[in-house]
Amino acid sequence: MSEPPTDTEAERHRAEMAKLKALQDAEVARKTIKRKGLLIVYTGNGKGKSTAAFGMMLRMLGHKRRVAVVQFIKGKWKTGERAAVAAFGNLVEWYTMGEGFTWETQDRARDIAACERGWEIAARLLSDPDLALLILDELNIALRYDYLALDTVLAALAARPPTQHVIITGRNAKPELIAAADTVTEMVEVKHHFAAGVRAQIGIEF
Ligand code: ATP
Ligand code: MG
Repeated sequence: MSEPPTDTEAERHRAEMAKLKALQDAEVARKTIKRKGLLIVYTGNGKGKSTAAFGMMLRMLGHKRRVAVVQFIKGKWKTGERAAVAAFGNLVEWYTMGEGFTWETQDRARDIAACERGWEIAARLLSDPDLALLILDELNIALRYDYLALDTVLAALAARPPTQHVIITGRNAKPELIAAADTVTEMVEVKHHFAAGVRAQIGIEF
């Protein structure tokens, strides 16, 4: 067992922490923007993009603010997240537009039609000043395959209510979207169980 700290050690620690706190407070004081709707992008090949977005949705729901999700590509699977947030009633709107993965549908015209329907809903939500958080899941995929026009999407994002937060997920985020975003995180694949032959697991993948 380690010895309890001596009085001088405790005092040194306290002084160090006080100095850190002063630095931290000064740093915070330099940030002058109190409230801003953020555009957040989760991209990259590693696992965790959509679930990071849903984690933030849970955080927002804890504050009893309205959230909405539009899923552009995936469709068929019944996911745990969708079932779970049903418990929050009309604080959550959830639209799953996709017909499935692009390699499942193998039908470009149908994929485009599904994305366009999704975009119609997204555009309405992007002009809703009471919506705190909008998640556009897999929108990057729709943009990558030119299922939706980048200019149209960027214009609607720019014109949204100034306090609305938006999260966009999906691999291969377009550089123009990254440029427009406030926060961008790239999930890097270090390892994924799929490569070792493990199928999608309940509660982990869906
Ligand atoms: P999640 O929904 O788990 O956060 P994601 O949004 O980062 O994943 P997507 O590109 O949307 O990833 O892919 C969704 C599905 O593919 C998930 O079931 C996820 O586990 C799986 N997946 C994600 N990354 C990889 C990977 N690098 N290799 C294999 N499967 C992956
Ligand atoms: Mg995803």
